[in-house]
Amino acid sequence: MQTLGNFINGQTVDSTSERTAPVYNPATGEQTAQLALSSAEETRNAVSAAKLAFAGWSKIAPLRRARILFKFKALVEEHTDELARLIASEHGKVFSDAKGEVIRGLEVVEFACGIPHLQKGEHSTNVGTGVDSYTMMQPLGVCAGVSPFNFPAMVPMWMFPIALACGNTFVMKPSEKDPSTAMRLAELLKDAGLPDGVFNIVNGDKEAVDVLLTDERVEAVSFVGSTPIAEYIYATASAHGKRVQALGGAKNHMVIMPDADLDQAVDALMGAAYGSAGERCMAISVAVPVGEETAERLREKLVVQLNQLSVGPGLVEGPDNDMGPLITREHLEKVKEYICIGQKEGAELIIDGRHTAMQGSHDGYFIGGSLFDHVTPGMRIHSEEIFGPVLCIARAASFDEAVAMINDHEYGNGTAIFTRDGDAARQFCENIQVGMVGVNVPIPVPMAFHSFGGWKRSLFGPLHMHGPDGVRFYTRMKTITQRWPGGIREATNHFTMPTH
Ligand code: NAD
Repeated sequence: MQTLGNFINGQTVDSTSERTAPVYNPATGEQTAQLALSSAEETRNAVSAAKLAFAGWSKIAPLRRARILFKFKALVEEHTDELARLIASEHGKVFSDAKGEVIRGLEVVEFACGIPHLQKGEHSTNVGTGVDSYTMMQPLGVCAGVSPFNFPAMVPMWMFPIALACGNTFVMKPSEKDPSTAMRLAELLKDAGLPDGVFNIVNGDKEAVDVLLTDERVEAVSFVGSTPIAEYIYATASAHGKRVQALGGAKNHMVIMPDADLDQAVDALMGAAYGSAGERCMAISVAVPVGEETAERLREKLVVQLNQLSVGPGLVEGPDNDMGPLITREHLEKVKEYICIGQKEGAELIIDGRHTAMQGSHDGYFIGGSLFDHVTPGMRIHSEEIFGPVLCIARAASFDEAVAMINDHEYGNGTAIFTRDGDAARQFCENIQVGMVGVNVPIPVPMAFHSFGGWKRSLFGPLHMHGPDGVRFYTRMKTITQRWPGGIREATNHFTMPTH
């Protein structure tokens, strides 16, 4: 069986570590590869390669760095289907969804190709007599990225394209559950002409990550994953003097007002709650209908649609299924456990995904979509992130109650309101304590040229991912104030300055 190693200094290298982890195909439960879990020493080697490459890469003109990214973009486009197949076979999501993920990642590459413009500083002439002032946005040095399993292409592409475009070098630590896509992206970067050592991958777990958080040669860490780990990453890397952005978990609510177009809202909810088997940080996991009548109509329509949801392998001949398997057997058991918890807490289980008929291997990690009604704040299925295809209906008597329910929640990643009332929508956008808000848009993921990030316990650190914040995160500003004698002579030749 193939053992995946690392990508260091422009080469795929075997790991010397004796610790390994299995990589599975979640649709069949079969082990497809073995992943070496890199030692601290191997991780330090990757940091050394990145440190060595920084001196040259940071001096290359931004325009030339952008040209390499343009080539990379063309190569990723050429290999989109291949990358999507890799994602579907290790993550389990359906092929069209996997392709969509590659395309969303590519949009960040397209943004990063504009680096000559994005990295321009500010300039003021004559801030004093004969004095000019300007800013430089300089790269930081070696930056590190640690990514989760649920977007094995897109999340790394939220990080490294902008970091590299700004002149940094990079060490990426992908999720150990689906590491192959990032390895393929590293090869494509090399094919695009990226110099050796500028982008490196170490595969592994906590041992590798801890080196990235503490090695003094690493200047900044970007992290995306669950909240407890995000908190740990933020605390540890900050304590070691690094710049950190650590994006965590989520529990996203969608408010459905009595005047909403209910068919549109239900279609949107189906995709947002059950797409990618609910394994998205922007998935909607709580529907909040306002008023009893809205709740009854919503429930009725959701049941009809949920009964038609097709569940099966991500890679099939013919049209895609709506939903693939979960990532691991442990995660499947955890989601099942949450369904038991919801029942015990007194929520009404209207559709039980544990009994859904599905295609494919019985050894795959499949579960159908579940729907709970009469969920209330305080229940664990409302307060905790399930990260599976389980939608909770939490009824609210009024708009204010819906807003309070969301604002009282510990997470603040994404949210949405469906309404035809502009006033309600405006009030919602103004008062909601959440980082990304949709109005009649269920998954309001900002485009690459805006920044992505939540509030509260969904993000640790001040700067969001990609967009303008991405450029700020991966650069530091230097302000130069300069005076040359000629400017003063010129000013005093023409007139005498008043003395008071
Ligand atoms: P995870 O936190 O288990 O793992 C994320 C990364 O951290 C992996 O690379 C993993 O190897 C590493 N890691 C795990 N334990 C560690 C430890 N003790 N010390 C150091 N490193 C460690 O997350 P996951 O299960 O891979 O991904 C799902 C989570 O990611 C969900 O909570 C989801 O909401 C979140 N997520 C958030 C966003 C966002 O933008 N906010 C986006 C995608 C996913």
